[in-house]
Amino acid sequence: MRDIGDLRRILERIDGRGYKAYRDLKGTYANEGLELHVDHVQSDPFAPPSRMRVRIPQSAALIPPELFGNPSRKRGLEDLLTREFAKAADRYAGKQGGTGKSGLVAIDSCGQEILKRTSMVVCEDYVEARFVAGLPAGGRRVHGRKAFRMLADEVPRAARASMVYSALDADRVRLHVESAEDQSTLRERLESLGLVAFVADGSLLPRMSGVSDMPMDRKSAVPFASPPELRTSVELPNAGTVCGMGVPSGVTLVVGGGYHGKSTLLRAIERGVYDHVPGDGRELVVTVADAVKIRAEDGRSVVQDDIHHFIGRLPGGEETRRFSSTNASGSTSQAANIVEALECGCRLLLLDEDTSATNFMVRDARMQKLVSRENEPITPFIDRVRELHDVLGVSTVLVLGGSGDYIDVADHVLMMRDYRLLEVTGEAREVARQLKSRRCAEGRSELSAVSERAPQPDCFSLPGRRDKVRARGRSLILYRKTPIDLSFLEQLVSASQTRAIARIMVYMARHCLDGSIPLSSAVDRVLEEIDANGLDVVSPFEGHPGELALPRKQEICAAVNRFRKLRVRQLQPL
Ligand code: ADP
Ligand code: MG
Repeated sequence: MRDIGDLRRILERIDGRGYKAYRDLKGTYANEGLELHVDHVQSDPFAPPSRMRVRIPQSAALIPPELFGNPSRKRGLEDLLTREFAKAADRYAGKQGGTGKSGLVAIDSCGQEILKRTSMVVCEDYVEARFVAGLPAGGRRVHGRKAFRMLADEVPRAARASMVYSALDADRVRLHVESAEDQSTLRERLESLGLVAFVADGSLLPRMSGVSDMPMDRKSAVPFASPPELRTSVELPNAGTVCGMGVPSGVTLVVGGGYHGKSTLLRAIERGVYDHVPGDGRELVVTVADAVKIRAEDGRSVVQDDIHHFIGRLPGGEETRRFSSTNASGSTSQAANIVEALECGCRLLLLDEDTSATNFMVRDARMQKLVSRENEPITPFIDRVRELHDVLGVSTVLVLGGSGDYIDVADHVLMMRDYRLLEVTGEAREVARQLKSRRCAEGRSELSAVSERAPQPDCFSLPGRRDKVRARGRSLILYRKTPIDLSFLEQLVSASQTRAIARIMVYMARHCLDGSIPLSSAVDRVLEEIDANGLDVVSPFEGHPGELALPRKQEICAAVNRFRKLRVRQLQPL
């Protein structure tokens, strides 16, 4: 291993030379008990910045082992240290300006969710941050002195301020770690409690604005309070006893007037599949891990989905047991979204009338009379939602204000009034008794498990050494030249997850597909591999695995399903 003297000598030697001379830096340097790894050097000051790691042995970092003693604590701690490193890099680094990205020191950015990330590793032996750095340039020439200050002084300072336990706020660390553990524990326990979601009393659900995921100002927000009928208490490892609303499995309606907070509640439940940072307001809004938000998504591509339980024979006689479309309609896209969610093992569907296709949700009595059943391919969701639960064990939480017909098929009816939630099942039943719905049920065949589909390996072909699969922000992947649009995946929360999905697709294409393995099992295999060996396994970068955060199986499958070159073989029903 080289030391800091070697770093100085190299930089003195290449100072003023063309930028490519920075390549000589590649390697590892010891610097007063800390290691700096230069894994990849950028070719140009304007190119993506260089990839580096800084490692501090536990003999110096001294992080108490109980803070990373189980997977959820470890995830919480690594997430927090990433945030601390980002703050410290802001404070101590980034002062060596120049052309292009000169002087930049940055680590993956984090939002309100606590995700499993590749940006930080805490283990028994060391703590390691994976970051990027813009090696300083004047014009296109090496600026050796600035580079030395950055690598020998700024980076170590940022690292020591954020990765050494004594430099951190111990209470803050403990809170973050314990909160992650509480949320994960509660999520795992929901099923045995007979619940699909839990919303703690006092939670703060509304967000600052339509474009910010930060909590609304506490002074203007009405805190959540459970209706007494659904109030339950849960015992958490760190927070102790917590009270709140348990959403039971089954069919739950959330009704209420416009602008009374219905969608806000549903959105919080959607995001409850992830852990949230302390102070977010949704720390104890926890939902079963495989819940999927279902919406209409017209224009999406669909490849051989068996949607016949929702959509029968289409005009022109098109078969819907193998439905494909390059431009699905509102109702067919929503049906496809449900079928695909079921295919990858979802137990809770979340729907909001705001983002649903009206004709997919319900046909009222008059419309049933006017448009006869033979001329309407759709079996509306209202005629399937009970079976989804009773036959397949899949629950639904449904927000709506427009159709009272749903009262007949609901187990629980909740009402939002002025941002306060009431239990109104009794009242709703009484209304339904007085005002009978004139519509008749339209289910044609009995609902059964959906057929699985096996992706065909050749459609993912990746010739050449460079795979050319790239993520662009949160909502776009370019698979070679084919765009995959993820904008409507409301439970995909970070660009780092999208980058990981792109890598996972490549990994799956290379290692898991044989033409007969179902999509769901292929993704399970990758996730098992990640579970055993870390998210690093899907990264193309040796040493420095990039800025990845773990996506859910649901979003990975969703990305594959939206790939316009996808080809599948449909298998026998499950
Ligand atoms: P709905 O779906 O019932 O029409 P929304 O959930 O869209 O209503 O909420 C309407 C507005 O009220 C939004 O601007 C939202 O931020 C705000 N809001 C929602 N819940 C609360 C709350 N608990 N306290 C204060 N404002 C809220
Ligand atoms: Mg709404």
